[in-house]
Amino acid sequence: MVFMAIKVVALDIHGTILASDDYDNVVIPRRGLERFFNRCSDRDAIVVGASDSINAINDIDAVARYHNLPWLIEGFWDFYTLDGSPKDFSHITLNEKVNPRELLVIGDNKDNKDRGGAEAIGAHFILVPPYSVTLEDNFSFDQIDLSKY
Ligand SMILES: [Mg+2]
Repeated sequence: MVFMAIKVVALDIHGTILASDDYDNVVIPRRGLERFFNRCSDRDAIVVGASDSINAINDIDAVARYHNLPWLIEGFWDFYTLDGSPKDFSHITLNEKVNPRELLVIGDNKDNKDRGGAEAIGAHFILVPPYSVTLEDNFSFDQIDLSKY
């Protein structure tokens, strides 16, 4: 099989990088995220948002402003609102003109929405534990090893 390097990383937003129950947009983004953006950039992979919520961009913007984190805005190449379950990640591969094997989806939904959507088109998928105000969070984006892709 031909090895295809990751060119696009699609990040779910709520529960993956923002706490899902942070209704006031005051909770710090998930640990390791700024370094993760830098590691993607080092590998010439772009990062896009892939949320089923039309509020995702506003929530990112609000958290970035609250904590003065310009990298949280600048780190995203684009945002996609993908309705439904499973999410149709082919919108991303078609628009960014990449093969599904060059797409890595990262999300907290283990069922249809994130994982099912990625698997439906043959994209890579990494499941992360749900990020929430009310759950202890032992996950950091530093744990994601991009050298495998
Ligand atoms: Mg989510």
